[in-house]
Amino acid sequence: MKLAAAEINLSALTHNLQRIKSLAPNAKIMAVLKANAYGHGLVTIAQNLQDADAFAVARIDEALALRAGGLTKPIVLLEGFFNASDIPILLANNFQTVIHNEYQLNALESAKLDAPIATWLKVDTGMHRLGIEPEQLDMFYSRLKSSENVKPQVNLMTHFSCADDLENSKTKVQLNKFARLVGNKEESLCLANSAGIIGWPQSHHDWVRPGLMLYGVSPMQDQKGTDHGLRAVMRLTTRVIAIRSLPANEPVGYGGRWQSKRATQLAIVAMGYGDGYPRHAKNGTPVMIRNQRFGIVGSVSMDMITVDIGDNQAGIVVGDEVEMWGPNLPVEEVATYADTIPYELLCNVTPRVSYEYV
Ligand code: PLP
Repeated sequence: MKLAAAEINLSALTHNLQRIKSLAPNAKIMAVLKANAYGHGLVTIAQNLQDADAFAVARIDEALALRAGGLTKPIVLLEGFFNASDIPILLANNFQTVIHNEYQLNALESAKLDAPIATWLKVDTGMHRLGIEPEQLDMFYSRLKSSENVKPQVNLMTHFSCADDLENSKTKVQLNKFARLVGNKEESLCLANSAGIIGWPQSHHDWVRPGLMLYGVSPMQDQKGTDHGLRAVMRLTTRVIAIRSLPANEPVGYGGRWQSKRATQLAIVAMGYGDGYPRHAKNGTPVMIRNQRFGIVGSVSMDMITVDIGDNQAGIVVGDEVEMWGPNLPVEEVATYADTIPYELLCNVTPRVSYEYV
């Protein structure tokens, strides 16, 4: 019997894409598929996003994997290229590059190419990760515009740092800065990540760049995907492989991090950090068995988790399915128990887990 499994619900994926379209009806959609489509499986996810207008990935290898999988839509490289030797690969595969640094501009200008490349100029409006300084915009823009290696339209992009928090004034600062910088340049503009799409409609412009919400998960603090009409795409499950009786006052697992207060029963569940389940999930992190929630106890180990099932009124038996996160148990909630973010949990699912697309 199959143990750890990630069931990927493709109708939930297409539902989420339609939901994005209804939230940003006038924008084109650049579906963010980096990190193996946030752990959901790059090529299959892309194949099931026919209504997206483009794909975005971080690295060239990810973009090449999409082309190798037969995907023909435009692909944007969010980190752009790193080596000048990558530039012919961009051209040969019709990749669009983000330009965020002068070394890229210099390399692009001096490349010997038969045809121009589509570019996105990324401006740092306050995230302070990638992006040119605002005062460099006119210089970059005019050099790109006058290079034969660059397609005539130079699109403009920026990225939000705090859009998941509607009370944070930083997003307005970024929006205003971007609007001032862009002025009346007639280019395509792209700002909104998932949080921008949900929380900041004024950021939608020509293109939106949803990642997390495509997968049915909320980017907004303290909210769930269902609060935004989204459906969880991944359902991570495994099985109960043993049921044990534990006397009172006995420690459980490595380091004895948890001790029983009363006699109880434990379900031993075949999932651990070797599958990508977070090692730091606290005692009480919920799992679902027989439509009921139970809390994990003790340390998460590589292959197993111990779950306190009390006097087993639920009648749990060996072989029962356990949902670790999914439509019945939001990954946002598990992330909170593990002091992390749902992005990390989804990306961390390991190759030991078998994927099933339904
Ligand atoms: N755009 C850029 C530049 C990103 O780095 C990311 C993800 O981190 C996204 C868009 C998508 O963000 P989200 O998954 O929050 O929608």
